[in-house]
Amino acid sequence: MVSYGPCKLPRKRRSKTEIAEAQAEPEEAPDPSQPPEHKYALPELGCMLVKIGNGLRRQCQLKHPVSQRSTWECSRCKVTLCAVCFVPYHKDKNLM
Ligand SMILES: [Zn+2]
Ligand SMILES: [Zn+2]
Repeated sequence: MVSYGPCKLPRKRRSKTEIAEAQAEPEEAPDPSQPPEHKYALPELGCMLVKIGNGLRRQCQLKHPVSQRSTWECSRCKVTLCAVCFVPYHKDKNLM
């Protein structure tokens, strides 16, 4: 006679930290569907960083401790910005 006893599988219990990690929202998870250029485009504002063209360089409109000339401008605002200033310029108007 074969006895079919309850199959005892080892139950993996999740520790509290594991659960917290699984529930925590990732702060800045990279979105693989977004191209790397998303840093230089703000679709919600319709703004995009584009090359000024003709090899021109203009003074970045944000305050820099030293003169910062950029070959980029916002296509909508028509403001010269360097790559690092593009997002701060649009997100923090106090910098203007
Ligand atoms: Zn803009
Ligand atoms: Zn700048």
